[in-house]
Amino acid sequence: MQAEVKYIIIGQGLVGTWMSYQLDQAGISYKIINDETIQSASSVASGVINPVTGRRIVQTWMIETILPFAVKAYSSIQEKLNIPIIQQAPVILIHPSEQMLESFNYRMQHENIYLIKQDPTQWTPYFKAPQGFGGISECYWLDVNAMIASWKNYLISHNHYVNANFDMQDVVFHENKVTWKNIVAEKIIFCDGISSMQNPFFKSLPFAPNKGEALIIKIPGLPNKNIYKNNISIIPWKQDLFWVGSNYEWTFNNVQPSEAFKEKMIENLNQFLNLPYEIVDHIVGIRPTNTQRRPFVGIHPTHSQLAICNGMGTKGCSLAPYFTAQLLAHWEQGTPIESEASIKRFETILKEN
Ligand SMILES: Cc1cc2nc3c(=O)[nH]c(=O)nc-3n(C[C@H](O)[C@H](O)[C@H](O)COP(=O)(O)OP(=O)(O)OC[C@H]3O[C@@H](n4cnc5c(N)ncnc54)[C@H](O)[C@@H]3O)c2cc1C
Repeated sequence: MQAEVKYIIIGQGLVGTWMSYQLDQAGISYKIINDETIQSASSVASGVINPVTGRRIVQTWMIETILPFAVKAYSSIQEKLNIPIIQQAPVILIHPSEQMLESFNYRMQHENIYLIKQDPTQWTPYFKAPQGFGGISECYWLDVNAMIASWKNYLISHNHYVNANFDMQDVVFHENKVTWKNIVAEKIIFCDGISSMQNPFFKSLPFAPNKGEALIIKIPGLPNKNIYKNNISIIPWKQDLFWVGSNYEWTFNNVQPSEAFKEKMIENLNQFLNLPYEIVDHIVGIRPTNTQRRPFVGIHPTHSQLAICNGMGTKGCSLAPYFTAQLLAHWEQGTPIESEASIKRFETILKEN
């Protein structure tokens, strides 16, 4: 039996979840095709939205627009699914060096929006911090896995979800329609993370995938309402567990957890954590990053039935709600996509496909 919908979405990581949520809220028909045998970047993401970044502690790209949008969006899906998804989780900075302390003090005095002082006596029972502590307010922690699992249940119960591998070879193009197996649609949106690198229509986008690992550990006694950060981050995970990471590998020849990463994390933890801990897991994923560090959002310049929402890199949690909404508004109402994120910037190479 054929199913007719307006949109087919490929992938249910963070981006596919948000794309389908936007369509659902707008009352537009869709099916989502997700291959559960392909590991997603979203499943290992620590779920942090942090408004500042880097050694110079500067604001992240478009954060003044994206942060309030994301907080509203996650609060909305949390209410719909009736499970806890978003919580404010200030970052406790354990300054790892004199230089980072200086950066922090400089930012506190110049263009400081998100930085806060910390009372060291509150944190010295947990951490060794010769350079002292600082803090970042307005940070959020998301239970990404709980959100994606719960949204998947919603999708299944409303007959929107297909667990299958999508292959472009199974797509038939008609004048105003596309068919994939038994589904007829007007448009297809690719939210399939690094799989878009193999997509014949979008593979020329400058993807540069990045491998990242994390240890999952138990730290009895450490308060789990904060994110802790020096050279590495300790982030609340599920129940009494913490996520510890990460690394950013631009060249890699496998997607396996590495002994070198594990040893580095252990060395780091032993240096600054005052509490005993136990390692319970070691996870790994590939971030859909790219050479420009900006998303890939928009409709293909010559195949107007195909669009992409991808390239969220290290910031899928904050960027996905905003850019899926922009793509939908663009397709439905013709509003422009943020020029730095729009795939219009690659029009020439995409047309060559
Ligand atoms: C270790 C690590 C830590 C991270 N921490 C954070 C963080 O704290 N905050 C943050 O903002 N970001 C973080 N990220 C980045 C974040 O994970 C990504 O930006 C985000 O998950 C990308 O989401 P996505 O939906 O584009 O891709 P994915 O999550 O990879 O989802 C793609 C989906 O498409 C499906 N799929 C792929 N190919 C096919 C196919 N052929 N047919 C059907 N389905 C298919 C897959 O099964 C998957 O479900 C982290 C990443 C890593 C690796």
